[in-house]
Amino acid sequence: MNDCLFCKIVAKEIPAEIVYETGRTLAFRDINPQAPTHVLVIPKGHHATAAVLADADDGLADEVLKTAHAVAVLEGVADSGYRVVFNTGLGAGQTVFHVHAHVLGGRDLTWPPG
Ligand code: IMP
Repeated sequence: MNDCLFCKIVAKEIPAEIVYETGRTLAFRDINPQAPTHVLVIPKGHHATAAVLADADDGLADEVLKTAHAVAVLEGVADSGYRVVFNTGLGAGQTVFHVHAHVLGGRDLTWPPG
């Protein structure tokens, strides 16, 4: 998509610190980290929200989740515990409409989210 920030990261038009990549997914560090590990996992193809991704029905949502877990292992937070968050829609605080899983870890994570 022409005007999508994360599509531009996929196309390498905007720099990002990439930590992991598969054929259809990309993981890069959040520019404004909320935890010692804060990585965004996206499908390389443009899907606006997690709801759209879920409807795609081609295994891509599974691949995003598997990449999120691979990132947690690489970052050394898989055993201590980590959080995977999809803010979905404006009301949930989604600001970039290219679906992304936040992978957060490396500190105590509280609930409700914090
Ligand atoms: P959302 O609020 O769930 O949509 O999350 C969007 C996330 O993208 C926020 O955590 C931002 O800090 C992050 N972000 C925005 N621009 C960039 C960028 O250029 N590189 C990496 N992360 C970004």
